[in-house]
Amino acid sequence: MTATEPAAGAAPGDISLDEFERAARHALAWVADYLAQPERYPVLARVRPGEIRAALPPSPPERGEPLDVILGDFERTILPGVTHWNHPGFFAYFAISSSGPGILGELLAAALDVNGMLWKASPSATELEQVVLDWLRQMLGLSAEAGWFGMITDTASISTMLALAAARETAGLDVRERGMAGRADLPPLRVYCSEHAHSSVDKGAITLGFGHANVVHVPTDDAFRMRPDRLAEAIAGDRARGFRPLACVATVGTTSTTSVDPVPAVADVCAREGVWLHVDGAYGGVAAILPELRHVLDGVDRADSLVVNPHKWLFTPIDCSAFYTRHPEVLKRAFALVPEYLVTGAGDVVDYMDYGVQLGRRFRALKLWMVIRAFGVDGLAARIRHHVELAREFAEWVAAEPGWEVAAPVPFSLVCFRYAPNGVGEVEQDVMNERVLSIVNASGRVFLSHTKLGGRYTLRLAVGNLRTERRHVADAWRLLRDAAGPGMVLTTAAPPGTGA
Ligand code: PLP
Repeated sequence: MTATEPAAGAAPGDISLDEFERAARHALAWVADYLAQPERYPVLARVRPGEIRAALPPSPPERGEPLDVILGDFERTILPGVTHWNHPGFFAYFAISSSGPGILGELLAAALDVNGMLWKASPSATELEQVVLDWLRQMLGLSAEAGWFGMITDTASISTMLALAAARETAGLDVRERGMAGRADLPPLRVYCSEHAHSSVDKGAITLGFGHANVVHVPTDDAFRMRPDRLAEAIAGDRARGFRPLACVATVGTTSTTSVDPVPAVADVCAREGVWLHVDGAYGGVAAILPELRHVLDGVDRADSLVVNPHKWLFTPIDCSAFYTRHPEVLKRAFALVPEYLVTGAGDVVDYMDYGVQLGRRFRALKLWMVIRAFGVDGLAARIRHHVELAREFAEWVAAEPGWEVAAPVPFSLVCFRYAPNGVGEVEQDVMNERVLSIVNASGRVFLSHTKLGGRYTLRLAVGNLRTERRHVADAWRLLRDAAGPGMVLTTAAPPGTGA
């Protein structure tokens, strides 16, 4: 009998618990084994576009299949197309990793399958979210007096979009009711961020109908930080043109270089101008857990909202973004809409559905709760600190090596650097660095990514994986130097299957 064939007269129901238990044991053993040695797989998937799709049946099975067969196919067919973010040689983008406690939290959340849209729909989902986000607030050194209200969203992109929606609501333009189209009374609504801010700020403005052209990218200083004087100038210029300055997004840990915008000075400008200040600490914010890096969130208690992503550098499986605002009533004004079928009369409770777009909400707080409890604040700080130390050591190796240069300050655990041999022009250097990246990524042992700084191709090594040790960083450095060796052929063609 297969999983979908019930006994005569029985409700079809779930698969048998025997089969589930057998498969779950197998899957858990696989997970433990995987986490024990993720290095047995190449970090970067070695497949061509369409290869995985072609290996899968084009239509679904008519009849149910046994779980052990499906798990076998997972290993045989799906895994080869997986890029292993849990691999200790993963240094691309912002390296992230899941953790044992986080995985258990996901498992339990899936088993419970509660929808935390309303307090009543699962009181523990709401109240654990409130408590765990207040723990995180304390861990980040944010003040209780500032009145922070926390909620979990899926991503920083959505958190930032919510912040911009709240900013629009505070402007008193009645956009919620009347919309924006066809209104002669509405000036262009302007959003400011540095030229190094994440594209999610732009996407938020696009989504909310402000228009991409109304995102002002403020110039940065030579350490890639927003210049508050240029922000003030941009706002003044916009006012003079009759535009409406609405919100400013300061970043703590920009994506390209992890630069930190001067939040206190930006907050001064925003306070003076009546502009909503949102701080994007998606990656860098959690570093404030370390006493020695707490200063990266200086001034944030004066911001109107903040996002930090436990799914980036707090070992919580994606997705888990912590969104905070000091004005939850504004968010509620922007989004609360309660049809009769969702009226509960539960009294003085938080119904998280009132504070954003989505109704259904996963029980994400469970995994964050398990991560914080299992590692403890000290344990989390020790891991983040180790990553920062590894990155700084790598930067020292690069700086000491003739022909290589560090391309930006290293405030966290990301190093921007490039191969810049003497006597080679910038255009050739760009090609060389692209080539170096392709070669090291083809090794299967490490995966790095790149950015452009001042128009120049720049390599990025981001340490953030729980399983990364010094030997992995040393291996990356060995591979990089070998790739840039004297025999390097200048060609733009990447080796096959590198996907770099
Ligand atoms: N903000 C910053 C600074 C980021 O680096 C990123 C992603 O790397 C984001 C926002 C977007 O994060 P998410 O994928 O959670 O939307």
